[in-house]
Amino acid sequence: MTAKRIDGKAVAAALRERIAAEVARFRDATGRAPGLATVLVGEDPASAVYVRSKGKATLEAGMESFAHHLPMITTQGELVALVDRLNDDPAVDGILVQLPLPPQIDERVIITRISPDKDVDGFHPVNAGRLAIGLHGFVPCTPLGCLKLLQGELGDLAGKDAVVIGRSNIVGKPMALLLLKESCTVTVAHSKTRDLPEVVRRADIVVAAVGRPEMVKGDWIKPGATVIDVGINRLPADDDGKSRLVGDVDFNSAAEVAGAITPVPGGVGPMTIACLIRNTFVSAARREGFSYEKSL
Ligand code: NAD
Repeated sequence: MTAKRIDGKAVAAALRERIAAEVARFRDATGRAPGLATVLVGEDPASAVYVRSKGKATLEAGMESFAHHLPMITTQGELVALVDRLNDDPAVDGILVQLPLPPQIDERVIITRISPDKDVDGFHPVNAGRLAIGLHGFVPCTPLGCLKLLQGELGDLAGKDAVVIGRSNIVGKPMALLLLKESCTVTVAHSKTRDLPEVVRRADIVVAAVGRPEMVKGDWIKPGATVIDVGINRLPADDDGKSRLVGDVDFNSAAEVAGAITPVPGGVGPMTIACLIRNTFVSAARREGFSYEKSL
């Protein structure tokens, strides 16, 4: 392996420590803690794990966690009523409704019901629009975490050729907009892109957010490029009965060519949670007119 392994876990821990220090100052100044409300509907085990770890990270940063767990049979009206209550609750600075929701509930209705100023996931159309035209808002946590890893490695990104593979609303599109804001020359590749390996070979920065295990191979990577692997794919158990988590990048072959690369797990994943904590703190600071370290 020649590439530097980007330690997302360590970068995320450092960011969370800085936020905890800001939270302590915020509590002294305002007499309250920033609060994150999480909403889980149903019993999906993966969603339950995500929500638990988000709640734990919230408490570790010195913030309040308000966990709401509703049954699988919850109606859309009941969930809307809860979101309305959280929108009006002054102790709640951020609202996170864990997706996916059960089929009787339209996700778009819920996402647009959350106040854009408490939408710490950054999924509300108002926040997507703010990002597109360069206004302050909330940026989805995963692409924000990827940007922080890239800036930590490369510093100024201006003029770099960046290829984002994937165009989802929660990762690919906001990632492309963030890189454009940093003055990269951005290409967004997707399932209809012709000759993807050739497109990726031009990139100084590759962000893979596809959901296909180990799709991006080492011979697609320009020597020295920085590779951010967003993918989380669980492979079926092999002979020893153990299943493995892998990214969208074939780590071993890509690490022979890249300058730096994130592992899976331990790369982008921990940054996603750190950025959720960051967005919740920033929401509280904005709501209280509290000035904070802008580099957070
Ligand atoms: P998605 O399914 O919404 O989007 C996938 C995108 O990949 C689509 O835009 C599609 O056009 C593109 N695509 C599909 N096949 C392709 C191909 N053969 N060539 C090129 N592009 C192709 O997925 P998503 O929500 O953006 O998530 C992507 C991956 O990132 C998944 O593995 C997901 O689990 C992971 N993820 C990780 C985190 C994290 O915290 N680390 C957060 C969100 C998503």
